[in-house]
Amino acid sequence: MTTLVYTHEACLDHIPGPSHPESPERLKAVVKALRTPEFSDLEWRDAPMGTREQVLMIHTEDFVQDIEDAAPTRGYVPLDGGDTVMSPGSLEAVMRCVGAACAGVDAVMNKEVRNVFCATRPCGHHAEPNRAMGFCIYNQAAIAAAYAYEVHKLERVAVIDFDVHHGNGTQAAFYDRPELFYASSHQSPFYPGTGAKSETGTAHNIVNVPLPRGCDSAMFREQIAAEMLPAIRDFKPELIIISAGFDAHHLDPLAGLNLQDSDYDWVTRELMKIADELCDGRIVSILEGGYSLEGLASSTAVHVKALMNH
Ligand SMILES: [Zn+2]
Repeated sequence: MTTLVYTHEACLDHIPGPSHPESPERLKAVVKALRTPEFSDLEWRDAPMGTREQVLMIHTEDFVQDIEDAAPTRGYVPLDGGDTVMSPGSLEAVMRCVGAACAGVDAVMNKEVRNVFCATRPCGHHAEPNRAMGFCIYNQAAIAAAYAYEVHKLERVAVIDFDVHHGNGTQAAFYDRPELFYASSHQSPFYPGTGAKSETGTAHNIVNVPLPRGCDSAMFREQIAAEMLPAIRDFKPELIIISAGFDAHHLDPLAGLNLQDSDYDWVTRELMKIADELCDGRIVSILEGGYSLEGLASSTAVHVKALMNH
């Protein structure tokens, strides 16, 4: 069984404005890196449109209506100051993100493939149930977890987030839901300001691993091995969803951690070991941040290569 990649050209049509770091070039760089002969075993599928019903598994009806109403037919509409912006292509782009994530869950639950990578944008982990934020409109990783719980009747689903920013949106959505687990490693103090160790969720279903500016490979691996991997095993997930952001890479212009490509190979393999032990190998990995085109392309390639080498 190979790794399945969901992507869609509509994800290039979300334009947050000139010189915005979350640009369509990011997804082009990822797809280009995965279209090389080394990755010829990947199976590619067009991301289907997500449904409103899927979005409502995490987001509030009022918020979803606001987003649908805000979607422009021309020009730009800011949602969160200048950070999060909608263009005419944004609504379809985010619905393809949601559709890819949920179809990815279907594919691993139906045993078509062992794991899935969603090459989609914009990112989602800052989007709270009732708020767009930090380049994110809908939270596709959180939606995929809730979808697995509601549609596939899983009892425990984990989202693991190694993006350099804390996924405040996923944490907010999961905080009072003991069946959903969220673990994040992130630079701290840093945007968005959440993600302290003391934020544990009402059932110790949230694990935050804050990392200091300058954190290198050795410290990252030590912290993940000590603080995160045992907590995931204790939770005993039936499915692992990865919020795969690559902005902790040393080349990233927005953040200050010093991860190397090989760290993404390491963390991916550690999560695959847990998935093999507890989840029948099931992993759905979803692209989040990563703003150095070079660092994003190389670290995504390493991550997907690890997923393929099962
Ligand atoms: Zn990020």
